[in-house]
Amino acid sequence: MAASAPLSSLILPHLSQLTPYQAGKPLEELERELGLTDAIKLASNENPLGPSPLALAAIRDGIENLHRYPDSHAFYLKADLARHLGLVPEQLILGNGSDEVLDMLVRALVPPGGEVVSTTHTFLMYDLLTQAVGGVFRAVPLNEMRVDLEAVARAVTPRTRLILLNNPNNPTGTAFSRREWETFLATVPATVTVVLDEAYIDFADDPEVPSCLDYLAEDRALVGLRTFSKVYGLAGLRIGYGFGPSELMDYLNRLRMPFNVNRLAQAAARAALQDTEFVARTKEVVLAGKDLVGRELTRLGLDFVPSQTNFILIRMPRPGREVYQAMLREGVIIRAMDEYDFPDYIRVNMGRPEDNRRFLTALEKVLGSAN
Ligand SMILES: *Cc1c(COP(=O)(O)O)cnc(C)c1O
Repeated sequence: MAASAPLSSLILPHLSQLTPYQAGKPLEELERELGLTDAIKLASNENPLGPSPLALAAIRDGIENLHRYPDSHAFYLKADLARHLGLVPEQLILGNGSDEVLDMLVRALVPPGGEVVSTTHTFLMYDLLTQAVGGVFRAVPLNEMRVDLEAVARAVTPRTRLILLNNPNNPTGTAFSRREWETFLATVPATVTVVLDEAYIDFADDPEVPSCLDYLAEDRALVGLRTFSKVYGLAGLRIGYGFGPSELMDYLNRLRMPFNVNRLAQAAARAALQDTEFVARTKEVVLAGKDLVGRELTRLGLDFVPSQTNFILIRMPRPGREVYQAMLREGVIIRAMDEYDFPDYIRVNMGRPEDNRRFLTALEKVLGSAN
């Protein structure tokens, strides 16, 4: 080889600005650092009850066949999902987490310099994936913690290729209504694909929250995203899906890695779909958690955003990062929100009743000790 060039000069210029996604701190990491064995994690909106028991049984059964490649087209899972959602299998695309489906959508639809319109204070992957393809991310400000769909529609330009929305929204927990959504859909130009990430839809108890399923049409560039990571408790297995016009799904399929969803994930997801008891129990625990935590936060005089999800965004009297650090020392992992442009907030997901009480006790201690 000839004289060496700095490796950074070989990297595509738009990648130099990328910062990696910061995941919630792993439980094992904190326990290792503090020498604890009983830390709790309420930082990544995971299921407090563990994985679906039916999914676990399916995984045990499936282990014997790990020498075989998975079904690249996930025939049985797609058939089950299609039945579950009232769709046909051709309207589905599966991913290694719904994150991967999002990645496929951005790669398929956004050229270098193409615009993606989304909002401030939303899932950080939207910005990251846009930057990864050299796209331009336009973040429309929230209005009083809510996604302002009128402003999102106004932000569309002739260069806009994709609109990415999260409803209910992470990290605010707020949701827009069916009426707002329908007005919005009617104004979006046909040249723009709308993606509605419904990772938290299972937790929404307001009947006014729209479901993307009700708005699908073969001639409409609209895609919904859902995941097995939250209400089914399978975040560690990595499986999620998108649904939309079959023609668009066919294009996504062409850039999909052939074995992106592994055997155990396919088997577990099929079983989890049948686990209605587990899903119902999860929703109950989350609702009861929001009830308790909401009441206690009010008692402590803390402001929080009423949530349609399994987590709550809470305003702190001092920097959220400090509270986060102090809570770690109590063995409680929550999320600091400075990366989401909310330096005064923390986000906590609902745990089991004992986890919620431990969170509240630790928070009261941490906040009390500063005053
Ligand atoms: C948790 C979450 C997802 C799910 O991601 P997976 O890749 O399926 O685990 C998607 N979108 C948002 C906004 C989330 O918070």
